Order: sequence, then C-alpha cells, then structure tokens
Amino acid sequence: MSTPRRLLARLRHLMAHGAAPMAELVRLVASELVSEVCSVYVLRPGDLLELAATEGLRPEAVGRTKLRVGQGIIGLVAATGQMLNLPDAQNHPAFVYRGETGEDPYASMLAVPVRRAGHTLGVLCVQNRATRRYDGDEVEVLETVAMLLAELLVAAGTADGAEEGIAATVPRRFTGNPLVSGMVIGPILRYGAAAPPRRLLADDPVQEQARLSRAVEEMQRGLEELISRRLPEGDGPREILEAYRLVAADAGWLKRVSDAIRGGLSAEAAVHRVAGELRDRMRRIVDPYLRERLADLEDMVGRLLTTLDPGSGHAPVPPGAILLARRLGPAELLDWHARGIAGFVVEEGSASGHAAILARALGLPALGGVRGVLEISEDGDEALLDADDGLLVLRPELEVKQAYDREMQARGVRLARWAALRDRPTETADGTPVQLMLNAGLALELAQLDATGAAGIGLFRTEIAMLARGAIPDVAEQAAVYARVLDAAAGRPVIFRTLDLGGDKLLPGSPASDEENPAMGWRSLRIGLDRPAVLRRQLRALLLAAGGRPLSVMFPMVATVDEFRQARALLRAEWARVRPAPERLSVGTMLEIPALLWQLPELLREVDFVSVGTNDLMQFLFAADRGTPSLAGRYDILSPAMLNVLAQLHSAAASAGVPLSVCGEVAGRPLEAMTLAALGITTLSMPASGLPAVKEVLASVDLPAFRAVLTSIRRTGAGAASLREPIAGWAREHGLPV
Ligand code: PEP
Ligand code: MG
Repeated sequence: MSTPRRLLARLRHLMAHGAAPMAELVRLVASELVSEVCSVYVLRPGDLLELAATEGLRPEAVGRTKLRVGQGIIGLVAATGQMLNLPDAQNHPAFVYRGETGEDPYASMLAVPVRRAGHTLGVLCVQNRATRRYDGDEVEVLETVAMLLAELLVAAGTADGAEEGIAATVPRRFTGNPLVSGMVIGPILRYGAAAPPRRLLADDPVQEQARLSRAVEEMQRGLEELISRRLPEGDGPREILEAYRLVAADAGWLKRVSDAIRGGLSAEAAVHRVAGELRDRMRRIVDPYLRERLADLEDMVGRLLTTLDPGSGHAPVPPGAILLARRLGPAELLDWHARGIAGFVVEEGSASGHAAILARALGLPALGGVRGVLEISEDGDEALLDADDGLLVLRPELEVKQAYDREMQARGVRLARWAALRDRPTETADGTPVQLMLNAGLALELAQLDATGAAGIGLFRTEIAMLARGAIPDVAEQAAVYARVLDAAAGRPVIFRTLDLGGDKLLPGSPASDEENPAMGWRSLRIGLDRPAVLRRQLRALLLAAGGRPLSVMFPMVATVDEFRQARALLRAEWARVRPAPERLSVGTMLEIPALLWQLPELLREVDFVSVGTNDLMQFLFAADRGTPSLAGRYDILSPAMLNVLAQLHSAAASAGVPLSVCGEVAGRPLEAMTLAALGITTLSMPASGLPAVKEVLASVDLPAFRAVLTSIRRTGAGAASLREPIAGWAREHGLPV
C-alpha cells in the first residue's frame, strides 16, 4: 500500500473509532511522513492559534503556546491561507521563537492551512532537523490530511465559532465600477463554485476510479452533444466549445485526480482537491488566454462534481450573501435574486448593461469590472461590498466593518432627508417645472411611485417581468400584469415599452445568439416585426389592460420611420378589435438608433412622443459596447457630441410640438439631469434610486444662469472628449449637491 493510502486508511479508522483523534493524528502523520515533529494549531476565539496537539515538541507546550493570526510562521499561514515550505524556518523573517516548545533543533518546516468553506480553522505542520525542502508528494499528503483535519475539528466542535465564520485571513481590496449603489456585509458565494464533498475517503480505489471514468464519459457526451446539436460549422462559440472539450479530455489533470483516488480519496474528494490546486495555479497565471482555459477547467470540475455527487449542487444561499461571478445574464440574476442574494460582484458588466439595470430595479448593490477576486476567495469568506465607492473588501478588518456600520447609519439619515423632499413640487430654483418619472419593470417596483413622489412611469420595460417568469405569459396573464401597473399609477402617465428581448436579455432555454454582435443583431422590435404573433399578443394585452383608460405604447430599437409605421399598424389593427378601446392612445418611439436622427422631420410628423434611450444611443453613436467596463471611460453623455445631438433633438421636437424625454440611466444622475434640463429636456425617466438626488439638485439650480454657463462651456470645449469637469466645477462652486 502506498504511503498516502496507508495513512488515509489509518486516519479513516481513527476518525471513526479514535478516542483522542488529534493526538493520534499527529503521531501517525509524523511517522508516515518521516518527520520528527507534527503539530496542530487550532484557531481559538480572539484570533489566537493554540498548539492543540504535537508529536515531537514538548507536551507541556500543548494548550500553552499561542500565536496571534499573522504572528510567526504559523500565524502567517493562517493569515494568508497559503502553505509555506521552508528549508530554514528559523531564519524566515516571520519566525517567532517560542522556548517552551523545545523547537530549537528543527530547521525545516512545512505548514499548511486547515481550511473549510472559506474559513481558516488552524494550521498543520511538520518539522525536521535536516535543512530540506519537502517534495510535492509530501505537500500533497499534508494538504490532504489538513482537509480531513478540518472535518474532524468541525465535527468535534473544537474550532469554536468556525461555523459562524472566523475568517482569519488577510484582507484584500478590489476596485470596480459601481453598477448599483448600496452597501452590504456578508459571506461570499462564488457562482458555480462546488460545495465541499460529503464523502472524503473511500475503501475501494478501483470502484472510485470506475465512478470517475463514468462521470468523465458522461460529461464528454454532454459536450459532444452540445457541439453537434447547437452549433453550425466553424464559428466562434464552436471554437470555444472545442477548446473546452480539449481541456475536458486533458490527460494531465485527470491523471492527477486518479492519483488522488489511488491515495485513498473518494472520486469527488479527489476532483475537489485537484480543483483547489487549479485555483492556486490560476492565482499565478498572467496570460489571459491561459487563465480563461483554466477557468474552463474549473467549470468542468463543477460539472464533474455534480455528476459524481448530485446532491452537492445548489447549496442554500446564506443570509446577506454577496454573489461573485464572471458574468451574469439578466435571467440568471433574477434566479439568484429569488434565491436570496443581497448583492453581487461581476468581473464583466457595466452600469448601463442589462444585468445592472435589473439589479437597480431589484435594489441589489452591485459592482462590475472587478478582476481577480474569484480566484482568491472561497465560499463563506466575509466581504464588504461598498458599491458607492466601487470597492469590495474581502475579509475586512473589524475597524473597517465598524466604520461602514457608521456610514450606513449616516445614509439612513440622508434617505430620511430625501423622503422629506417627496411632496415638494418638482421644479428648479428659478421655478421651471420638471417632470421626474420612474423606469420600472417589476410589480415590486410600483411601490416606489408613491415612495418617491414620481410623476409617473416614463419607461415600463415589459420584458423584465417575462425574464422574471422565464417565459412569455398568455394574453390574459399579461393583461393582468399591465392592469396592475395602471392601477398602481392611479391616473399618473405610464409609458409601456413593447418587448425588448434578445441581445443579452434571453429567456431561459432560448438558444444563445450565435451572432457576432448580438446587441446589433436580431433583437427587440426586429423580432416583433419579423414574427408579429408575439408582438400582437402583447399589444392586445396592453389594450385590454387599459380597459378604456388612456394608453401609451412605445417601440424600442426603431431604425427607420417605416419600422415605426409597421409597428403602429399592428397596434392599430389590435385597437380596432379590442373593446372597450382606450380613451386615448399615444404611440411613440424610443430613440436609440442613430439613423433616426437623420429622419427627424418625417419621424416627428408620425409619433406622439419620443424618448431617448441614451444607453443604446450612446453605444451605437460611439461604437462602444455598453457592457464593456473598460470602455466606460471612453464616452460620456457630457461630451460635445452627445450634447449637440440632444440639443438638436430638443429643438426639432419643440418646433414640431412633440414631447421629448430621456429614459436612459444618465437621467438618474444629478449632474447629467441638470445638464439635460438646461438643454430644455425637462421630462426625465430614471431608476427610483436616482430620483431623490436628482430632485434635490434641480431644486437648487438656477437654470437660466446654468444654461448661459453651459453654452459657453460648450463653445470653449468644442472637440473635447468630455465637458464633465467644467460642468462639475461650476456646480461645486455654486454649492450644488452633485
Ligand atoms: C436605453 O437603451 O437607454 C434604454 C432605456 O433601454 P434599455 O436600457 O432597456 O436597453
Ligand atoms: Mg435600449
């Protein structure tokens, strides 16, 4: 029998029957690894690591020798969660001498953290007199024993408070783009991370190997199917899946799993171990291509584990959990919201992406463009998400947490001040009336109408409720949803936007787009006009919901006046059939596609209103994907180009007598909102979270004075990338809350 297997077999026996398992464990490890010393340090309350058992050090030091987390080599291993392999430990800068242990003669040391579900529970180490570096097999054996020891500590309740979450590792800070403001403190939940295996050891390696082979085959079959069924020859996704399949078949990592099984682990524990090693390797890789391949591999590991241990997936979401993911689609986000997350952090995703818009509707604080955190965090690690400042602190210090608690209280006070603003008339300091409306999409957002004192709903994104349900409901169900919206609005105007699906807003089960640029692909109204049945059903539902009340319908992603006419013809056809027909039907368009800007005279003759979707309009005008965080700084609504477009649009709409509003995310930001108002656009539709601050700034700005300043800033700044600085400078000088 090999050393690791013999050791593991004896440990298994010990865990089942042993009277003093820890003392016995250190004795066994010392003898099997041929080391003179083996010790266990266990984390106690107060972040102290106490020598709990030893073979080789003086027995009287047990219970007496204590090191703070971060102190000495043992404390360093606990603080970083990383093992240390030191040929000459006593000359390591972190070494702290503890005479009572009698460790003077031992030169080399291998110390590994004992971790479980993101928490360090202690440290396991071996020492030898000879100056030597421990080899790979020895490291592997000690890490495996540490995995077992973690179970033992938790089962025995020795690691006090471990389950409650002593995360004794060093804090790390990450920055990202704020997607939705807010703060949360809670445990990390890694999207797709596998739960720890429920069975660690196995009697029969042959049987475990067979289970592994079956699971690998099943996974391979799944991938083959995916490749052949879904994807046509030679396109992008196919190549990615092919690469993925190569990784899945890679003999190297499967051999490592087999080795671990031969060592005595169950198939799932072996896969889990190799996954841990992969994560360690990922931490060191800089090359983005290789990092992506390793990410694929980890994904594969997740699939394998679910096959091997089907009950291991979908662990419950702990209260206050902060979800970490590489990317999140809107449907996935809704699913996680239903499961109870309190906030999320994604490596990809920007503020005007659809997941962010949805998160705003759901009130979930979120951060995008955060790199590297997935690789170095574990499920259960405590984190502080400060989405206002674009910060994620992994394993925050106590003082930092206390400071944030105080900040949260201060925010409560600010919110109360905003609530007091609710019933004040919405106008600028010089008395210009403005209309602040809400963007909404879910029934739960309707309460915000009264909470914010908004003038109505300027954009109701109908597809969001469908994404939440995961399907498009029938006419009667849709009508019930829309009627509820009109009821909640109680006579205030509501603009329903027809389905804007496609791009990144996909219903579960719909095939992923194989277009090169889904945002510019077959989406939104384009689907509606090519396959009119779904759009007609929705239009009928809207007319039925109105039941005689006034109804406003707006079409998204309109590129030509002709498309608008076709869509309006569908609406009129339904209108002719529905009784009672709405008392007033207004039909408008979103302005999101630049081509419409050069059809304004014709367009403005046809439409009842126009709402500018700056999220899409900006991405198409600047040819800069709205979902790519690294591009976020490259274009600005406060740029000469955008301000010229908006000013021209305003003057054309005003002379045609067509109401114009802005409903992109920028309308909900104070500086942008006051600039839009100065250009003459005084109907703004925004997320509820932005409304109080916008109302506050508008109430303090003297619009004619600012308009004059803006004109001169636009004149002198022509050609600049952005006019944000001079505009913000003026606002600050005048004490405006921007
Ligand atoms: C927009 O594009 O600005 C808009 C409001 O629509 P959405 O964000 O839903 O694409
Ligand atoms: Mg849009």
